[in-house]
Amino acid sequence: VPTEQRSEKSRVICEGDVVVVYERHDRMKAVTVAKNGELQNRFGVFPHNEWMGKEFGCQVKGRNGAGFVYLLAPTPELWTLALPHRTQILYIADISFVVSFLELRPGSVVLESGTGSGSLTHSLARAVAPTGHVHTFDFHEQRANAAREDFARNGVSGVVTVKVRDIQGEGFPEELAGCVDGVFLDLPQPWLAIPSVVRSLRPDGLVCSFSPCIEQVQRTCEVLSKHQFADIRTFEVLLRSYEVRHENLSTSFECSEQTFSKEATKSPPHKRQRGEVDEKGGPESEGHAEDPNGGSKTAAGSIVKQSRPVIARPYPETKGHTGYLTFARQATCM
Ligand code: SAM
Repeated sequence: VPTEQRSEKSRVICEGDVVVVYERHDRMKAVTVAKNGELQNRFGVFPHNEWMGKEFGCQVKGRNGAGFVYLLAPTPELWTLALPHRTQILYIADISFVVSFLELRPGSVVLESGTGSGSLTHSLARAVAPTGHVHTFDFHEQRANAAREDFARNGVSGVVTVKVRDIQGEGFPEELAGCVDGVFLDLPQPWLAIPSVVRSLRPDGLVCSFSPCIEQVQRTCEVLSKHQFADIRTFEVLLRSYEVRHENLSTSFECSEQTFSKEATKSPPHKRQRGEVDEKGGPESEGHAEDPNGGSKTAAGSIVKQSRPVIARPYPETKGHTGYLTFARQATCM
């Protein structure tokens, strides 16, 4: 059942549905439910027949009992994490910025190029639905076709049209001229598309261009100024992930040297690999070996009081720069 036709009350998994199988925050897979289908992963074998009739969000155990997964309904955020990569994609930190600063709302008409893997397109579609529309263009035919299939599979094809077109060479189609609220460009030479962006946007409409290099940004900004765009602003979104967990902390000065050295030799949590397999299995079940009540004995036998506050520390491998987002507003009257 396409997501758009399913009421919130009947979020029951059916044959043909796309399910995001969640193992842990950084490990998910999009699976289409098929009769007699099976998913195999490190937690065992999961027959699709056992998923049908269960509600989205449920937990299911692997057949050999090694662990469990959650079966989640696809959202644009989850799809971005689970989609098959055909190109580099935009992630949610950039996507949320784009949707917000393009001032998208239900009813908006948006142009996008290139479509790529359709990561951004799903969020654009949700923002403008049910009455708006996303027209997305890619000059790579197979990519455009694969994206079209994904949009149909995820129930957003009613608000998304994919076409094969060289936007840098031909610009956006004439028939959309003057009625577009927002344009998003993820192209190697976005400045070449600006004259057709001017033609497409309604007065006060907004454009956003994503580029990895500052030289591309400079050329785009020059052409935007030449075409009298206003409020030209470039942002760099830097993603920094934090690990949040409960940790035993000694609160007593009685802590003996032996206890201290034992704590100090334990591998600090931020040194653990993010993809490390948890022997207990199942999402995020990174259990502590320590006493869950937070007490531990010193070598001398006296109880050292410990608390288990929530600790947040940044991951050492900060993903950092993905690119620059340049926004501008059409200032000319049509
Ligand atoms: N933003 C997309 C996402 O989040 O999935 C990724 C876009 S990908 C990095 C860039 C895409 O632009 C590629 O699929 C490429 O084929 C397309 N492209 C490059 N030059 C183009 C052009 N002149 N006209 C249309 N599409 C183009």
